[in-house]
Amino acid sequence: MSEPLLKVSAASVAYGKVEAVRSVSLDVGAGEIVTIIGANGAGKTTLLNAIMGILPLKGGVTFDGQPISRLEIEDRVAMGLSIVPEHRELFGTMTVEENLQLGAFRAPRAEASTALERVNALFPRLKERRTQLAGTLSGGEQQMLAMGRALMGQPKLLMLDEPSLGLAPLIVADIFRIIGELRQAGVAVLLVEQNARAALAIADRAYVMELGDFILNGSAKEIADDKRVAASYLGFQHEGSSAL
Ligand code: ATP
Repeated sequence: MSEPLLKVSAASVAYGKVEAVRSVSLDVGAGEIVTIIGANGAGKTTLLNAIMGILPLKGGVTFDGQPISRLEIEDRVAMGLSIVPEHRELFGTMTVEENLQLGAFRAPRAEASTALERVNALFPRLKERRTQLAGTLSGGEQQMLAMGRALMGQPKLLMLDEPSLGLAPLIVADIFRIIGELRQAGVAVLLVEQNARAALAIADRAYVMELGDFILNGSAKEIADDKRVAASYLGFQHEGSSAL
């Protein structure tokens, strides 16, 4: 097998003396959707932020074949790594289009306009609302805008932190459909989700995180079929019943 796009080896992240992520290893191949599922406080956000360089990490991280642990965030972005944070972090008093343009502020003008066309094709809603202030968008539209802004940098790997958080089921379905389209466009996705059912339905592979550690990993199907996962994360009351 060729070298994965992202390779995390024995990575630990601590807040002071508290180790929130304990020696985890993970990889994501080019164009693959990999999900990390787990309860609140398991360490998922901490791990994504550390891969992005927002938090310091002990251990190895390579991206596109190069070690990145010592790189600044902006250098990681330039290599094709991007994150959509849990709280979206949009500029509410700027328009949709201005927010998008911020995602490509380092790119040459022609490249930025190609990226904008792609984002508009993926999210027609954003195109319709391009002159609207970001702060006046619905929660689902804000999530689309946060994803669109990250995609403006034309990443090879997009890390999504809880994209479904606080959104109505119909909008969640829309967001997950778009995540599937990203794979078709060749963008790899590392998806952190509490909505394990939706995440496992779309992912190629999955890791299950508990108390800072991966307790299981495998194909998304294997993980979805695991009895412990079904009981803890998929809301099954008994085998064969379907919750949600
Ligand atoms: P959530 O879905 O709630 O974000 P998570 O799996 O992403 O959960 P993290 O947010 O990464 O989990 O939290 C992992 C652990 O680190 C938790 O015990 C949390 O309390 C702790 N933690 C998170 N942020 C900080 C911080 N800034 N300072 C100290 N401890 C923190």
